[in-house]
Amino acid sequence: MYKYAPYSFSKIDLFNKCPYAWRLRYLENVKPEEQESFRVGRLVHEVIEQYLTELIRLGEQTNHSVLEKIVGKLDPDVQEKVLPFVPAIRDIVIPPGIKPYVELKIAVDNNFKPCKYEDESAFLRGRIDYSYIIDDTLVIIDWKTDNAPSPEKIEKDLQTRFYALLLGEVFPEASRFVIELSYLKYQKAYKLEIERDELEKVKEFFLKCIEKIETEKEFKPTPGDWCSVCGYLSVCPVAKSVVPAEKSVLELPERITTHEEALKLAGALKVVDQIRARIQELLKDWVAEHGPIQLSGEVLDFHKSETVKWETADQKAALASLLVREGVSKEEIWDLFSTSKTAVCSFLKRHNLKHLLEEALATGEKSVYERFCFRKKGGERI
Ligand code: SF4
Repeated sequence: MYKYAPYSFSKIDLFNKCPYAWRLRYLENVKPEEQESFRVGRLVHEVIEQYLTELIRLGEQTNHSVLEKIVGKLDPDVQEKVLPFVPAIRDIVIPPGIKPYVELKIAVDNNFKPCKYEDESAFLRGRIDYSYIIDDTLVIIDWKTDNAPSPEKIEKDLQTRFYALLLGEVFPEASRFVIELSYLKYQKAYKLEIERDELEKVKEFFLKCIEKIETEKEFKPTPGDWCSVCGYLSVCPVAKSVVPAEKSVLELPERITTHEEALKLAGALKVVDQIRARIQELLKDWVAEHGPIQLSGEVLDFHKSETVKWETADQKAALASLLVREGVSKEEIWDLFSTSKTAVCSFLKRHNLKHLLEEALATGEKSVYERFCFRKKGGERI
């Protein structure tokens, strides 16, 4: 028996990020402080759900005036948060002749047999933003309101694999799963394909994660990138040890003498970043309402700065032809559009040219520099 079932993807994911936060959320029922990014995500999901439900009711594939009505009824502050996502929502078109599922709730028991979402026997469960089946292909669409990660990260996305695993049990007729991660802010979608044979490995992976949760005893805080969106910062022991109310951060040791101390301070550094971001958010709200804050010689305010980017091929071509017209050589123009190692790697991957990686990198000039920063496990260390 699984004592902490039912498991959702977010429940498993939170444990993998920070067992301490998991304990607060799922064992002690402490409500996390809702982060602004989560709030916006929730609001946008609600609007899309209403919009698609209405389209299905009307039997239409798209209808912008329906969307405008839904957005028009929102409170002005909610509307402001949702508006940047509206162009992408307008682009949603329900394919003809299919039966779409909106916010489909699915669950399986511990024998991986489908059961009702609310059933006591539910072992794994999920709520899928939008899905439909065409022939033997199940299309799963996940709306994303955050920034798009690198294509490498998207390739490894676990949440969509978790959904494919569940949907594979609920729709045995599907042999192929096409997963679309739709980054609404950028109107960009990334597609992943999973064959049914791969699901066994996905199942093994999640069962191992669950085994770890079920046998965990310590539930220690593990600071990392996720601290930046953690809703438990105010009760986190790592945060408290960094900024104890009665002490000053100046009480840091003169130098680190043990590995444990180094580990503790590295974790503290992550949490300090989160505190900094939180202070910044609070100050932004204050300044927006009450005006700039004067510090000796400095003003904290929304200062305007301007930047111009040439991101598309058309924009680059327009600038290049302007410069060529004025007699600038093509070689000199190329310097303007210098590319990066990351851009070349992603380009090769996108075009299935990974075998050219070494050769392509050898065409550039390699330089080694030192940067003191956090880097993902397995990343190169100079
Ligand atoms: S702030 Fe970081 S270490 Fe602390 S509970 Fe949250 S995720 Fe865990």
